[in-house]
Amino acid sequence: MARLPLVLYPDTILRTQCADVTDIDQTLVDFGHAMAETMYLSNGIGLAAPQVARNIRLITVDVARAEGETALMHLVNPVIVDSHGRTTYEEGCLSFPGISAEVRRKDQIHVQAYDLQGAELDFDADGLLSICIQHELDHLNGVTFVDRLSPVKKKLVLRQYLKIREEDQEDESLAAIRAVHGE
Ligand code: ZN
Repeated sequence: MARLPLVLYPDTILRTQCADVTDIDQTLVDFGHAMAETMYLSNGIGLAAPQVARNIRLITVDVARAEGETALMHLVNPVIVDSHGRTTYEEGCLSFPGISAEVRRKDQIHVQAYDLQGAELDFDADGLLSICIQHELDHLNGVTFVDRLSPVKKKLVLRQYLKIREEDQEDESLAAIRAVHGE
């Protein structure tokens, strides 16, 4: 299965409110599997549909850390119906390669969603799973993890990110020039 191209900040799709999934058909199932594949190939623990250019309410999550273990979840139209406590975690995002920042979130959440078979899911999550679901669910509402930082911290982190992107682009154009000249 092909890896889907990742959307990087500041692409406008990362700012859009995603639409509810109205039909869980084979096209959606295939797309969900392609999302999971893309997440694994990018060494991510979560991915939201807008990060691969589709503004629908679908996320994939797998926070299993141990080698060879999997805890893959596809959540369709996920909703956090209840939440408790506070936690902080150093988060990164596949749409912001190269940066990370400590984000404050709820510690425990109660989630309702559908899986790709159309079955209703209703479960509690805490720790990394809870953090990851909150991060991905934010994406469905056009919110990224930098939006959860203080204005000062957000400015600093975005400046750092744009600098990294500029350097990456310079490297890419240098490589292109070298390729043209056969170096
Ligand atoms: Zn993200």
